[in-house]
Amino acid sequence: MSQARLMDGTALARRIVEQTARRAAELTDRTGTAPCLATVLVGADPASVTYVRMKQNRCRTAGIVSRHVELPAETTTEELVGTLRTLSQDPAVHGILLQHPVGEHIDERAAFEAIAPEKDVDGVTFASFATMSFGGPGFVSCTPGGILRLLDAYDVDLAGKRAVVVGRSAILGKPVGMLLLGRDATVTYCHSRTRDLSAVVREADVVVAAVGRPRLIKGGDVKPGAVVIDAGYNPGNVGDVDFESAAERASLITPVPGGVGPMTIATLLEQTVAAAARQLGV
Ligand code: NAP
Repeated sequence: MSQARLMDGTALARRIVEQTARRAAELTDRTGTAPCLATVLVGADPASVTYVRMKQNRCRTAGIVSRHVELPAETTTEELVGTLRTLSQDPAVHGILLQHPVGEHIDERAAFEAIAPEKDVDGVTFASFATMSFGGPGFVSCTPGGILRLLDAYDVDLAGKRAVVVGRSAILGKPVGMLLLGRDATVTYCHSRTRDLSAVVREADVVVAAVGRPRLIKGGDVKPGAVVIDAGYNPGNVGDVDFESAAERASLITPVPGGVGPMTIATLLEQTVAAAARQLGV
C-alpha cells in the first residue's frame, strides 16, 4: 500500500506551459516577433529524435516557433561549433538547444560553449552553471530547474534539510545539488565510487535519484517521511527508484513517468520565452 503523496509533474507542467503560452502570445502581439527555439540534432539516435520531436511539438502548442537543424552523424566538432555560433548570432533565434548526446567523436563541451549564454535556455554552458551556482539571473539546467519547481509546488522546505543527490552529471546531478545548496539544504553527492550508498541515502530528508540504473534506490534505503525525487528514466518507463517500496516510506514521491520528465520541457519553454523577452527588450 502506498502511503506517499504523488508529486504530479504532468499537472504542474501543464500549468507552466499554459502560462508560458500566454506570455508568448503577449510578446508576439507587442513586438510582432514570436519567440524562437532552435533545436540541433546530430545523427539519428532514436531516443534523441523522439525527445527533439516532443520538444518541437510542445513549442508549437505554446506559440514558440521551432527551427530544427539536423546534422549528419559524421559532423565534426568544428562544423557543429560553426552551426551553433551562427545560431548564436542570428537575431531571429532566441534560444538554442543542442540535443545530448552528440556522438563520441565530438567535443560536446566545445559545442556547448559555442552557445551564447543569453540563448542558453537549456542551461548547459559553463557561464550558465556559474551564474546558477551563485544565484544570478541566468538560465538553469532544465531538469534541475524543473525539480526545484516541483519541490516548491509541494511546499517542501529545504532550509537545513539533508539532501542527497545520487549522480553527478553535468546536466543533472551537479546542477541540482547547487540549486538545493542555494536553498540552504545540506547537500551530499553520491556517485559510482560512493561507499555504502544505502547508508548515505538513509540519512536524507530529500533524495534526488539521477543515475540511470533501474530501481537502484530501494524502499529500505529511504528514511521514513523523506521526499523522493526520481529523475531517472530507463527503458520500459522505469525510474532509478523502486517506486512501490519507496512509496511506503516516503512522504512525497515523483512517479515515472509523469514526475520530473514533463517539468524538464516546461522549464525549457518557459526559459525560451524569457530569453526572447530579454532579447526583444520587453
Ligand atoms: P549520466 O551522465 O550517465 O550520469 C549518471 C551518474 O550516476 C554518474 O554521476 C555516475 O557516477 C552515477 N552512477 C552510476 N552508477 C551508479 C551507482 N551504481 N551508484 C551511484 N551512482 C552511480 O546520466 P544523466 O544524464 O545524469 O541521467 C541520469 C538519469 O536521469 C537517466 O536515467 C536519464 O535518462 C535521466 N534523465 C532524465 C531527464 C528528464 O527530463 N526526466 C533528463 C536528463 C536525464 P560517476 O560520475 O562516478 O560515473
